[in-house]
Amino acid sequence: MSREPQRCTLCGASEPEVHLCKSHIIPEFAYGGLYDSSHKFVELQTGSPQRQVRRPTGLYQRKFLCDSCEGRLSVHEQYADELLYGRPRCPIRPQLIEGDLWFHGIDYPHFKLFLLSVLWRAGACSVPEFSEVSLGPHQENLRRLVSSETPGMWSDYPCLIVHCPNLTNLVGRNFVIPPGSSRSGEGHRTYCFAFGGLFWDFFVSGHTARSNFSKYFLREEGRFAVLRTDKPWRRFRPPAIESSPAL
Ligand SMILES: [Zn+2]
Repeated sequence: MSREPQRCTLCGASEPEVHLCKSHIIPEFAYGGLYDSSHKFVELQTGSPQRQVRRPTGLYQRKFLCDSCEGRLSVHEQYADELLYGRPRCPIRPQLIEGDLWFHGIDYPHFKLFLLSVLWRAGACSVPEFSEVSLGPHQENLRRLVSSETPGMWSDYPCLIVHCPNLTNLVGRNFVIPPGSSRSGEGHRTYCFAFGGLFWDFFVSGHTARSNFSKYFLREEGRFAVLRTDKPWRRFRPPAIESSPAL
């Protein structure tokens, strides 16, 4: 019995016409500094940041994307990396306004497709750490948007990006927490990721435009804000930070 050809999860192209590669599920830029002295990847567990799991490499899946799709997504990822972490090539610098970091002049399609691709990858992969990301019909919708390079509207799967300064002071950017699903106080289904020193809260519901956080979401006119708070975010409870109600 012949083995079914493996296909690119995004575009459907199959071997041997295309080469399928090993893809990180969490963006590649999140791994800077995440390897300990023996080059093992350090992962924190949700709710128990003092427990660390060491892996030979990061969270990835073999034969996940064809070279072409991997290349297309990596362009968006590179844009996000340069934008958020102030790489010299990126001229955009955020402004601190009322405690939050505001970004203007953003290339909306570039950054939005990056955000959509993070959520899509997590839902599409079979890596056990992402098993809580179960997107149902949204999975195929996201695949269509990402594969056709269609960023959609600002209220389609918006992402609230959160920076907790106390946590960054404690551990820097060196943490990755497998995503978990929860319901916000407003009733939205969200999937919260933690990587690159930030929390990434993806809203998967039909009425996100009415969220109290909507002013932070990336807009078509090219702006968004990183919310800064020292309250514990979602289910993550850093040990050295005083406990207060999660948002
Ligand atoms: Zn492909």
